[in-house]
Amino acid sequence: MKIFHGNIVTCNWKGAVYNYLVEEEGRIVYVGDDLPVVYRDGYYYDYEWVELGSKALLPSFGDGHIHFSNWAVFNATFDVRQATSFNELGDIIKDYATRDKKAKVLFGYGHSSHSVKEKRLINRSELDKIVKDRPVFLVCYDGHSAVANSKAIGILPREIRSMRGFDLESGQLFNEAFLQAVDFISGKIPLPTLVSYLLQGIDSLAAYGVGLAHTVEGIGYPRDMDVDLVRFLARSTPLQFRTYFQTMELEKVLKRKLPRIGGCFSCALDGAFGTKDAALVEPYTDNQNNSGILFYRDEVINQFVQRANRAGLQIQLHCIGDAAVVQAVNALEAALKDYPRNDHRHTLIHAALIPEKSMEKIAALNIGVNIQPGFLISPLEPPGYLESIIGDRLRNVWPIKKMLEMGINVSGGSDAPVGLPDPLVGVSGACRHFIPENSVEITDALCMHTYNIAHTSFDEAERGSLEEGRLADMIVLSGNPMETDTRNLPELRVEKTYFSGEEYTGGKTISQAIIEGVRNRELST
Ligand SMILES: [Zn+2]
Repeated sequence: MKIFHGNIVTCNWKGAVYNYLVEEEGRIVYVGDDLPVVYRDGYYYDYEWVELGSKALLPSFGDGHIHFSNWAVFNATFDVRQATSFNELGDIIKDYATRDKKAKVLFGYGHSSHSVKEKRLINRSELDKIVKDRPVFLVCYDGHSAVANSKAIGILPREIRSMRGFDLESGQLFNEAFLQAVDFISGKIPLPTLVSYLLQGIDSLAAYGVGLAHTVEGIGYPRDMDVDLVRFLARSTPLQFRTYFQTMELEKVLKRKLPRIGGCFSCALDGAFGTKDAALVEPYTDNQNNSGILFYRDEVINQFVQRANRAGLQIQLHCIGDAAVVQAVNALEAALKDYPRNDHRHTLIHAALIPEKSMEKIAALNIGVNIQPGFLISPLEPPGYLESIIGDRLRNVWPIKKMLEMGINVSGGSDAPVGLPDPLVGVSGACRHFIPENSVEITDALCMHTYNIAHTSFDEAERGSLEEGRLADMIVLSGNPMETDTRNLPELRVEKTYFSGEEYTGGKTISQAIIEGVRNRELST
């Protein structure tokens, strides 16, 4: 038994904060302002008293949208998001090259033309000057493009080099060429290395205080290996994974008895703002001939959503521009008319621009919306850039406050590797929207990163808030978020992560994870 005294931030729907929390055998048995007599000295002898002082106890966070296996690789290799120039970017790559002498490809992430002083993407010959003798494959922050050096281009199969989106001169890859090249490069990572990356990723997530991850899988690995591998390893950790399979082939999902389908990539209805292919109703401000791309015709999406809804699956759809949001909402509306379901919890991912009429339908049909509040304060895609491409529509990006007032379940997600899977960055972003009236208060921002995520995956009865009867999945933060300047929230540290009342230590070896994965069959979802 553990008794916590101090700032108990429950993150329940009322936003209550109490003085005491009692944990017993992995569950929360009491939360309130006065410690009941039964828990005071003299009744129990064997308990741990935790005095929080200026720290705070919260439920462990959720990440409502993460590409876990993709992120875990880059988390273990290198990430150039902090680089402010090609020089700094080069140093990060060279540093990784000396650290990992065995890697067949120097496979890293996070390049953005917005965050380097050159204000453009690096090219093949510039990468060659950084590393010439080993393949370098650098994925851009948007996860939809990459730059390769000559050595990396040399190992790509001929089919990929003749695909749409391949540019030999610059070494840049987009569209099909990018997707196929990522599959090919990922396939070069030996399985034991990949498993160790995933285990490190689990430990890193726990260190960020994440206890529930909604991961989208089914891209970047041969034979959908990521889907099965993540589900298997998830059985060896108390950190909860809920897997969304990014496919339109229902059979793949039903065969594995997964309850969820969708995500990005093959379930993406449009592109992204970074690549100016998010589908807009009106053209882009800086190019009247471009309205982005709807990847599928309405009939294809309608049919997919209808079939998945009839099969009882929970559906998630990536849509960013308003034209894609309309397509997604209309498809869900038609499917729910065709086969009504009370508690479907279908969810839109991103939904940056939602037209008024779609917003009303989202609220009426109980469709959830998962957004990436961390992007609101990210230098990778600053508001100035967004304004230059969408103009006045910037004001309508994620009106979080209004959406919550309309009763929509808005949850936060990092979209890692696109964002850092640090929920405190998301909480800070939701409080500091670049359109101030779209911001929310800290209580709601915390709820979006805890309870609302648990609700999205039907987990709210067990997780997502500190309430009696729920599992004691909790974190100790170095300060009280309710009393911290919202700008400084990302500086708070997660000092301890508890799952079912036990402090998480991690550091599992591959063989331990495999043994536990085989043993704990029932934990898989
Ligand atoms: Zn995504």
